Amino acid sequence: MIIVYTGDGKGKTTAALGLALRCFGGGGKVLILQFIKGSQNSGELEALKLLPIEIRQCGLGFTNQGDFSTHKAAALETLKIAQDEIISGKWTMIILDEINYAVKGGLISESEMLNLLEICPPDLHLVFTGRAASEKLIEAADLVTEMKLIKHPYQRGIPAQRGIEF
Ligand code: ATP
Ligand code: MG
Repeated sequence: MIIVYTGDGKGKTTAALGLALRCFGGGGKVLILQFIKGSQNSGELEALKLLPIEIRQCGLGFTNQGDFSTHKAAALETLKIAQDEIISGKWTMIILDEINYAVKGGLISESEMLNLLEICPPDLHLVFTGRAASEKLIEAADLVTEMKLIKHPYQRGIPAQRGIEF
């Protein structure tokens, strides 16, 4: 399955983490690669230490910090890791967290991302998360869900909460 979680509403990464749990519980081996690193004290990092689900924060943090070429190099490195792991045959599911955002922001090209579908073996589930998924990815995918923003506490100035946002 090629699965995409996109849209402006909250829940893309957490939906992918839910799939990771389900897949692991079903006997699968799961790898999570983060193209744009989230908070290093995110609750899921602590929780995943208790489980044999591998998570690697390869990309850098928020794209507006640090210079573009450094971010681009980190994203390309993450892409290379993704390519190697996809063809390795070691995994049941690979989650490419925030890859859509990396493409949208010009850190990796759309064709480089689409190439991952070409090399994906038929028995591997690939999950793509992040806002603004490319049309071509949406066309190629088996399952696409758009998280739609209806309300978010940020709109009322409420800061990120432990256990909800990180
Ligand atoms: P989550 O990791 O909670 O599932 P996400 O992956 O859908 O969220 P991202 O686009 O990766 O969301 O954004 C990361 C952070 O931004 C999250 O902490 C999330 O709560 C917050 N966020 C998501 N949607 C919005 C929004 N519409 N307005 C403000 N902040 C948001
Ligand atoms: Mg996310």
